[in-house]
Amino acid sequence: MKKILIGTHNKGKFKEIAYLLPKNLRKISPIKLKIKSPKETGKSFISNSKIKANFFSKYVKCPIISDDSGLCIKALDNKPGIYSARLAKKCGGFHKAMKFILKKMKSKKNRKATFVCSLSYKDINKKVISVEGKINGIITNKIIGNKGFGYDPIFIPDKKNITFGQMSKLKKISMDHRYIAYQKLKRKIKI
Ligand code: IMP
Repeated sequence: MKKILIGTHNKGKFKEIAYLLPKNLRKISPIKLKIKSPKETGKSFISNSKIKANFFSKYVKCPIISDDSGLCIKALDNKPGIYSARLAKKCGGFHKAMKFILKKMKSKKNRKATFVCSLSYKDINKKVISVEGKINGIITNKIIGNKGFGYDPIFIPDKKNITFGQMSKLKKISMDHRYIAYQKLKRKIKI
């Protein structure tokens, strides 16, 4: 069976990417192989997803798909953006980070936000292809829903009236930023 390493330590992302990939691929986690994550020194989602693909490729011979993603909030100068995971760490978890964001957003009229995902695919010939997917929506005024992961419970995508945190896994993964990025990737490569 062909293998692919899904280059993330985030279990929510791993599940979503595994779901998007063809069923006949064996999906490998860096956690199982005891590979740590690289430092995210890039200044964009694309540069960080490339850093991850290049880092993980040092440890395996199979292709790699890596993800860098985050939530960009208009009224907060597009923050936390590439620092989404780091904000959660600084706040002491996602629940606290969501509360921190909601507090900052209390006085803001503009509640527009975008979830962004860059996927990078590194094949066995060391060629790296990167894409970016985005989904627009708004930030709620409270935490709603207990499904999904990360900032899902404070984001309502455009044209929907529930948060990602209220959606079934299947519904979210058939429309989110990761899905949009993956559709672009599929047009550029043969996985
Ligand atoms: P990083 O790509 O490892 O820097 O982490 C990105 C962070 O953005 C994740 O830890 C989540 O907090 C957040 N994030 C990215 N995609 C999603 C999503 O689909 N739902 C909720 N939070 C997300």
